Amino acid sequence: MSEAYTSNIISLRETSPDNWQAKYQGNFGVYNIRIHTDGKRRGDFSCSCPSGYYPCKHIPVVEEAIARRIEQNAEVESVFGMSVEGLLEKLTRKELFDFTLGLLRNDPDLTNAAFIAFSDKIERENGNEPPRRKRRGIKPHCE
Ligand SMILES: [Zn+2]
Repeated sequence: MSEAYTSNIISLRETSPDNWQAKYQGNFGVYNIRIHTDGKRRGDFSCSCPSGYYPCKHIPVVEEAIARRIEQNAEVESVFGMSVEGLLEKLTRKELFDFTLGLLRNDPDLTNAAFIAFSDKIERENGNEPPRRKRRGIKPHCE
């Protein structure tokens, strides 16, 4: 069994509190990994790789990257003496809008994640058909 490396992680994102999604460049393509964790304890997880091992080798590697990410975020918060939540609460709607727009315009994956997260806000342009839930956008993982 070959090693798995954090350097093969293409993207890592906390999509909602404690829910992480990663893309990993493996020998058989890009694997989609989801892990529910607070950085200490592992909850539900999945990986789209063809490995017969459970959990496969990608789960601990992604967990290591998550732990590092949480640590880095804590370091930044300690430098500025404020939590990210505290900062967000101080922003005006306009500041938040402009900053978020800049992020979304530069990251199609993040834009897709936003449409999926807020799919209940999408209304159809024409007709009375109700918005379809969880169907718009490209699903960020395959199962
Ligand atoms: Zn795997």
